[in-house]
Amino acid sequence: MIRSRWLFWHRRDLRLSDNLGLAAAAAMTPALTGVFVVDPESLAAMAPARRWFLAESLVELQQSWQKAGSRLLIAQGDALQLLPRLAALVAAETVAWNRDIEPAQCALDRQLAERLQLDGRKISLHWDQTLIPPDKLQTGAGNPYKVFGPFCRNWRRQLAQKALAGSLGPEGLSPLGPPKNLQDLDPKCRAALEQQGLAPSRKEPDSLLQKLRNSHGFKGVDLCPCRPGEVAAKEQLTVFCERGLITAYEIARNLPAETGTSGLSAALNFGTISPRQVWHAAQASRELCRSQEEEQSINIWEQELAWREFYQQALFHFPELETGPFRAKWAAFPWENCLSWFEAWCEGLTGVPIVDAAMRQLAHSGWMHNRCRMIVASFLVKDLICDWRWGETFFMQHLVDGDLAANNGGWQWSAGSGMDQKPLRIFNPYTQATKFDPDACYIRRWLPELAHVSTADLISGRIPSLERRGYPEPVVEHKLQQARFRAYHATI
Ligand SMILES: Cc1cc2nc3c(=O)[nH]c(=O)nc-3n(C[C@H](O)[C@H](O)[C@H](O)COP(=O)(O)OP(=O)(O)OC[C@H]3O[C@@H](n4cnc5c(N)ncnc54)[C@H](O)[C@@H]3O)c2cc1C
Repeated sequence: MIRSRWLFWHRRDLRLSDNLGLAAAAAMTPALTGVFVVDPESLAAMAPARRWFLAESLVELQQSWQKAGSRLLIAQGDALQLLPRLAALVAAETVAWNRDIEPAQCALDRQLAERLQLDGRKISLHWDQTLIPPDKLQTGAGNPYKVFGPFCRNWRRQLAQKALAGSLGPEGLSPLGPPKNLQDLDPKCRAALEQQGLAPSRKEPDSLLQKLRNSHGFKGVDLCPCRPGEVAAKEQLTVFCERGLITAYEIARNLPAETGTSGLSAALNFGTISPRQVWHAAQASRELCRSQEEEQSINIWEQELAWREFYQQALFHFPELETGPFRAKWAAFPWENCLSWFEAWCEGLTGVPIVDAAMRQLAHSGWMHNRCRMIVASFLVKDLICDWRWGETFFMQHLVDGDLAANNGGWQWSAGSGMDQKPLRIFNPYTQATKFDPDACYIRRWLPELAHVSTADLISGRIPSLERRGYPEPVVEHKLQQARFRAYHATI
């Protein structure tokens, strides 16, 4: 007997396994249909690298739904209009989805829930994209956290409690398997959807998806360390945990010339892997640790996951972060905003090798190493005295893992306008290169035109004129600009 149908709306959870909202739906009925809504406006604003990652992940997800016995519909339009229409077409009793933390998406969550309920449908909502839901972490006084240290301690405490409870599902930390033996729509319903262009037939490729696949415009597929789809994300996690990368993370994470980090940021953002799956893998690696150093490396990696959740809860509770500085006085900072300097930064032509190498890595691969994100952000804000929001926007236009919460958090941290307490943290790009790219391997990789220059000259940035061969002189002098930035800062 077919039980009442549920519709599951995929958003930033492009996977079948360990998907809390989906698992809850599958526990209620096998008559389950998936849907992903392509919003043309957000698609147009998306970095080409993200469009690529999305398209490829959707192809795999659609196949996974078929293997599980049902289907994933891919529809184009405004979710608020489309989902009630689709729910009516498939006669869904309940529409289920995982909640989001971004301000516009939170509003959509509310509006859609109201709309569906008005139509007489039930809704089923879960938190899935963080280990601890953003509304579950509060200070002793019941307020959201503004400081990372105490947030992280509470976050770890709650994780330890969950681990002790050992239960499955939202209350526990053990990853759940994918749903199986689902039931597809009946032929009448399929025909109605096909007629409206909302469901491809099983034999015909999904034309919307094909269009998305053919038009992403991303040229760095081979260089990008983030791989789309649920299968690739699991493989990346296995490689990171089982080949000793996680246990060497403490040191390797700072060396951009090496593959010392997981490359899972896009997978976590699009939800091709769940935070519980990565947490679980880290705990399995912990069991095999042979030294305190190895354990410490795992602690530090977990701390990065905590940063991810810190920024998510920050944006959830303080949606105003999206549009301006967390510290109000920064709104009055007299940015110089020199367009030609900004353009030089974007193009990787500032004349500062470590900065230019990082910006070229972003342009060519759609990704940039975290150490280099901090270096180029500090350089844009504190050496070029450009509004951090210019950099934030540029990153979103190019990053495969571009994420409002993490990107805004990273930029506000680098600028000093955010929740972090140290506004005058200024990175010297030459010292950074000396420490973290001592053999200039990273610089040479991304600035091949300087491959002939000596390591000492590349990391100090003092490249003899004859050896520059068209590579520019530094656009600014670090010491001078640092002093000017401090003087400006004193005025706000
Ligand atoms: C200016 C700036 C902008 C940034 N923009 C983004 C962004 O748009 N999207 C994004 O996912 N990360 C962003 N980050 C954080 C970080 O650089 C990336 O998450 C990291 O480089 C991804 O590489 P990885 O997956 O190999 O990370 P790993 O080192 O393997 O870390 C594991 C996971 O932890 C999370 N993480 C790690 N570091 C941070 C951090 N500092 N803040 C938040 N989450 C973190 C990511 O999900 C990452 O995949 C930004 C950092 C800065 C300084």
